[in-house]
Amino acid sequence: MELLKKRIREDGIVKGNDVLKVDSFLNHQMDVALFEEIGKEFLRRFDGCGVNKILTIEASGIGIACVTAQSFHCPVVFAKKSRTKNIAGDVYTTKVESFTHGQVYDVIVSTKFLGSGDKVLIIDDFLANGAALEGLIDLVNQAGAELAGAGIVIEKAFQPGGKRLRARGVRVESLARVKSMDEESGVEFVD
Ligand code: 5GP
Repeated sequence: MELLKKRIREDGIVKGNDVLKVDSFLNHQMDVALFEEIGKEFLRRFDGCGVNKILTIEASGIGIACVTAQSFHCPVVFAKKSRTKNIAGDVYTTKVESFTHGQVYDVIVSTKFLGSGDKVLIIDDFLANGAALEGLIDLVNQAGAELAGAGIVIEKAFQPGGKRLRARGVRVESLARVKSMDEESGVEFVD
């Protein structure tokens, strides 16, 4: 998606070798007009797949997922990072290691909002090692729901998540795939 790549080139800030900050338009301040184009592009790619629910993880996936859901005309469920030790039986639960904080979270979704009739599109802002996506897929499987695929805004293709998930047969559609990046020369894309 050229519009997105241009924005990343102009406004993305590379930290070290593996963190891309996009706080000015995606992760803190949000460019909703850009989100609308992102949502339309996800619809173009997953149109006709029978998606009736979008699943994401708090916090940074929520805005993109909501705007995308307007294109798909379906609800959004976000997996919550739970601080509760004793989780009641009315939730699906999994563990996710955070890329940015290195911490392991319990992540939950109520059984009320995900079930065997659902065809799910997972949406997230970044794909790095794949832990967030694998956790969300685990929740979809626990619910007995069907997975249509995953729509990712920025995939860091030099990290292993995308390759591993595609090898598992998951349809991963990334709108910008970063081949390499560094603080001096910036970001280079796969195609
Ligand atoms: P993964 O679980 O694939 O290792 O990492 C994905 C999650 O970590 C995303 O939900 C995103 O919030 C965060 N993340 C991973 N890499 C980056 C990055 O380079 N920049 C930002 N802002 N977030 C990232």
